Amino acid sequence: MTDSSQNIECWLTDMDGVLVHENAPVPGAGDLLNQWRDQGKRYLVLTNNSIYTPRDLSARLSSSGLEVPEENIWTSALATAVFIADQQERATVYCIGEAGLTTALHEAGVILTDQNPDFVVLGETRTYSFEAITRAIRLIAGGARFISTNPDATGPSLDGVLPATGAIAALITKATGRVPYVVGKPNPMMFRSAMNRIQAHSETTAMIGDRMDTDIVAGIEAGLKTFLVLTGITQREDIRRYPFRPNHVLDSVADLLER
Ligand SMILES: [Mg+2]
Repeated sequence: MTDSSQNIECWLTDMDGVLVHENAPVPGAGDLLNQWRDQGKRYLVLTNNSIYTPRDLSARLSSSGLEVPEENIWTSALATAVFIADQQERATVYCIGEAGLTTALHEAGVILTDQNPDFVVLGETRTYSFEAITRAIRLIAGGARFISTNPDATGPSLDGVLPATGAIAALITKATGRVPYVVGKPNPMMFRSAMNRIQAHSETTAMIGDRMDTDIVAGIEAGLKTFLVLTGITQREDIRRYPFRPNHVLDSVADLLER
């Protein structure tokens, strides 16, 4: 355990590349989650993926051997729903997305409609339809505010990359001349709403991530202590290419275990 982790009361952690890798748990991740639970630490596991509900993700993590209660999961879909509910009471939304997003919007008190919505909200889906995209384009051209859950252009699959939310947003932007407001990482908004959820304060909260250009930069911008782990996309030699630094670089989350 690093000395620097001692006065941290709340933890935010990325999921892929930090706790799991292609559905396999990262060694030490399960022990760290149990340590936080036993110590009564407040924590959230964050993901930019807006497809799944926290319940779905909790079940998926459980099948990978990691026990994360659904209330400890924070997705870009939840952050987007909270953002919209804060922006406007009884907001109306035309939504392209899966259960993770539609459930989050419903629970935030948003009304889903395809008639004159206040917002068009774009999230991750595996079933984009030309018809739905055409409708979104017409509604945005007609004045609906354009929001997207996350900027990622591609996502992983066993067969190769998949077009993701950012790629479909680019299509809509090309057709409308409007760029979306993007709620997920690297927008520190996602961390701020996560901290609100667990009543965390930036001075005593840390972010653990595997990406310099999302987790670490957004953690810095949100005023958090940042821990980069090398179990994901970033290699140690990549760090110097960025104009910012994490507070700490760890081989893996196992380095945060108290022995
Ligand atoms: Mg990651």
